[in-house]
Amino acid sequence: MKKAIMICSCSFACPSMKDINFGELSERIRMEIPHDYMLVHPRLCEENGENLMADLLKDGVAYVTPACGIEKQKKLLRDAFERAKVPMDDRWKPVSISFKTTEQAFNDTLKAVEEVQ
Ligand code: SF4
Repeated sequence: MKKAIMICSCSFACPSMKDINFGELSERIRMEIPHDYMLVHPRLCEENGENLMADLLKDGVAYVTPACGIEKQKKLLRDAFERAKVPMDDRWKPVSISFKTTEQAFNDTLKAVEEVQ
């Protein structure tokens, strides 16, 4: 199973992510966490993001999503997974980076990627 990391930056303007430096976070993830590929998107839950996911998501890949709260992600990203016909249950690993620092977001993402089989 490949591992893909999709970071959602919430427009780089969400107050709950004010302590995250997304440039630093994404480069640290790219350099230090073993994975197959990654992206940073400003709004995965809006039409543009859903369209991307509907086209991108496929069999044989597990998706780790550092973004807002887990329950919120579950609601907001569900349509995109459905459109891609990729089951969220076993192929999606959310990471909440709300109210985290860059270091905490990195560590939680590392843990999630390591837990993906
Ligand atoms: S998925 Fe979550 S983090 Fe991303 S834009 Fe939507 S609300 Fe913000």
